[in-house]
Amino acid sequence: MYADLSLDHFMSGLKKRNINETEFHQAVYEVAESVIPYILENSKYQYAGIIERMTEPDRTIIFRVVWEDDDGHVRVNRGYRVQFNNAIGPYKGGLRFHPSVNLSILKFLGFEQTFKNSLTGLPIGAGKGGADFNPKGKSDAEVMRFCQAFMTELSHHIGHDTDIPAGDIGVGAREISYMFGQYKRMTREFTGVLTGKSLEFGGSLIRTEATGYGNAYFMDEMLKQQGDSTKGKVCVVSGSGNVALYCAEKIRHLGGKVVTLSDSSGFIYDKDGIDEAKLAYIIDLKTVKRGRLSEYAEKYGCEYFEGKRPWGVKCDLAYPCATQNELDEDDAKLLIANNCIGVSEGANMPTVIKAIKLLQEAKLLYAPGKAANAGGVAVSGLEMTQNSIRMAWSSEELENRLREIMTTIHNKCVSYGKEEDGYINYVKGANVAGFTKVADAMLAYGIM
Ligand code: NDP
Repeated sequence: MYADLSLDHFMSGLKKRNINETEFHQAVYEVAESVIPYILENSKYQYAGIIERMTEPDRTIIFRVVWEDDDGHVRVNRGYRVQFNNAIGPYKGGLRFHPSVNLSILKFLGFEQTFKNSLTGLPIGAGKGGADFNPKGKSDAEVMRFCQAFMTELSHHIGHDTDIPAGDIGVGAREISYMFGQYKRMTREFTGVLTGKSLEFGGSLIRTEATGYGNAYFMDEMLKQQGDSTKGKVCVVSGSGNVALYCAEKIRHLGGKVVTLSDSSGFIYDKDGIDEAKLAYIIDLKTVKRGRLSEYAEKYGCEYFEGKRPWGVKCDLAYPCATQNELDEDDAKLLIANNCIGVSEGANMPTVIKAIKLLQEAKLLYAPGKAANAGGVAVSGLEMTQNSIRMAWSSEELENRLREIMTTIHNKCVSYGKEEDGYINYVKGANVAGFTKVADAMLAYGIM
């Protein structure tokens, strides 16, 4: 029996075992804070050491990736795959290509993925991977050579029943296609080993849109719970990648007005709202031309704030969709002062812990990424199903399923997260609901 499962004791052990992995510490702390009290009320999880096991990845693979640039120089990057937990299904989670990628970031993402994938209700375990490779400024040929070199090693560790990676920051349709091609060439198998594939070779309709759409739906569910809706709300969105762009699109479908988007150089503030035509321009600018948002400001004559984040813009709803730790305490104070009523995370862990506390104390609706951005992995799960049965479902059918999954996740959060005063603590709800399914499976397997 455990003598001490206090949060402090648990966290100090975790920090000792995972030195300097600050993002991983932050992600675990956020979960442990709500799950440890639940474990103490349900001692079967405590005796079986479930939280200790869940915070240790099944395995971590680190490898060298060597490729040649267009000038004939040999380049070396570091590749990773963290296979976190396969208690409820094969490992599943994205690949990130970004210079900031390190083990701490991938462990935080893999850990979060455990809860997120559990919340979807689909049989998918959790993993995350990537490389410290920066696709920005590289030619298509360089990206192709990098992806082929990366997959040459990764292919030994993945498989359609073992581990099914997808995209994340810096890994979109182009990168997935190069990697899928290389896997197919090496194994001579055409299997659903990656998701986020193009429609011509096993991809699913609405996978591209799913994370962003799901996030907009989740916010709408939170508002519905309060007898409100997205209609007529002024919305601030950060990022201008896969998640942000389709979150903005769905907000518009739901009747909201999106006034900002950002990239790593700054943000645009378009008071009139980013309508369908403007959004189509940005999608082309960011995904085809790989340009900068400042070009939008020049074209449409709106304000552009170099090097700034959009949280000071007056809004009803905020959707952080760029990257981790992009919304800090000062940003939370600005949102509260501006009477924002809800924050829903499209990105993973975009809000720092102190900012989350402020938002919750001010009784804002606050949805953590592991619940609100689960739509992407959910449709990835549906892509796997379509690949297995060798069928392709229609957009309408998939979007209905996505909406249903987001509603179910929302309701799980409500049932585990409702507090005595009626406030819904979505962090607690998502953590405990995600935890129980994985924990029960681990208990059933015995000690391993
Ligand atoms: P993309 O690479 O498509 O877009 C990322 C966006 O964030 C870009 O606009 C980028 O700007 C901006 N960005 C990246 N780093 C920073 C930074 N340090 N500061 C400010 N802006 C930054 O990634 P995704 O849209 O796929 O992912 C965004 C977030 O959503 C990530 O946290 C990811 O883990 C999470 N997520 C993604 C899912 C998916 O299906 N893709 C699923 C679930 C979560 P720039 O154009 O300048 O690079």
